[in-house]
Amino acid sequence: MIKLKDIKSLYLSELCDELAVIDLPKFRAKQVFKWLTDGVTSFDEMTNLSLPLREKLSRIYYIANAQIERKLESKRDETVKYLFSFGGTTFVEAVVMKYHHGYTMCISTQEGCKMGCTFCATGRNGFKRNLTASEMLSQIQTAQKDLGIRISNIVLMGMGEPLDNYDNVIRFLRLVSSDDGLNVGIRHISLSTCGLVDKIYDLEKENLGITLSVSLHAPNDDIRNQTMPVNKRWNVDELLKACRYYSEKTKRRISFEYAMIDGVNDGDECAKELGKKLKGMLCHVNLIPVNTVEGTGYKKSKIERQKSFINILSHYGITATVRRTLGSDINASCGQLAGKRNQ
Ligand code: SAH
Ligand code: SF4
Repeated sequence: MIKLKDIKSLYLSELCDELAVIDLPKFRAKQVFKWLTDGVTSFDEMTNLSLPLREKLSRIYYIANAQIERKLESKRDETVKYLFSFGGTTFVEAVVMKYHHGYTMCISTQEGCKMGCTFCATGRNGFKRNLTASEMLSQIQTAQKDLGIRISNIVLMGMGEPLDNYDNVIRFLRLVSSDDGLNVGIRHISLSTCGLVDKIYDLEKENLGITLSVSLHAPNDDIRNQTMPVNKRWNVDELLKACRYYSEKTKRRISFEYAMIDGVNDGDECAKELGKKLKGMLCHVNLIPVNTVEGTGYKKSKIERQKSFINILSHYGITATVRRTLGSDINASCGQLAGKRNQ
């Protein structure tokens, strides 16, 4: 059987080159690209192409499509959480959140994750496979169609470690932000990483202009080694050095994620150590009360701990805020739905 090619992961220039091989002129490639951007899920929908041409394309290519398997809508806010599948075999989650400036979508980059962070539902369920650029695009297209809205901001904070799927993620970022594509402003896109240091240096060289979020979650190696195995490969000092480099080169503020776990990383001494290490860096700290995940035994920090952290960090000139929790009634944090799919 011939393996069909992934047409929606191609840049317009690549699509032009590919279709030139089957004697199609550039304007045809542009028409096809426009349909793909509009989110069609079959070649039959490309009504300005002849039937034989549509049939020919469908013998060579497939169009990735995120099918809605489950949809949960928050009653407290307008957060919507999706469980998508690709071909009924790959399952990932994504969340759409409404803010005053528009709709933000959190998408997945892998089915599962290899990184094994102890507090994370995705990490606990292991790794299945990388998503393609087209599968990342499809999550946005399906949600836009389903909700009749336009997504203006994207965060790569769903299932998976984006920098562990580097090439596909970069391709997705270029596609989703291109003028002839979905045209989402690159400054409205954030990528969150657990700290693959070599890839942070590579990312800086791409000159993309996205916001980098770094899941730090601990001020030192003792604590970080316990919760984030990646720290044994690149420790806190190496990670922060890469972050300083990234923010100095790009002149963009790094956003540090810090999930506060009761009695693990939320003491005043942790806040002081964090303040000392981040001092002088162009950055912001997002404090997140840890979401309880079955089997971890971790509990959310008390509100008083959050306030103390904000206060101590401010002495070091670091701004910190507690992230607003959206969709708390629908388990909006990722990894929890896919993990429970069969229950
Ligand atoms: N792999 C990337 C992006 C996906 S995880 C990363 O780790 O950054 C998205 C964010 O959710 C990360 O900041 C991650 O640390 C955080 N997270 C995972 N499990 C969590 C939990 N139980 N409570 C709070 N935040 C969690
Ligand atoms: Fe993977 Fe991020 Fe979860 Fe860690 S927190 S296991 S890197 S998805």
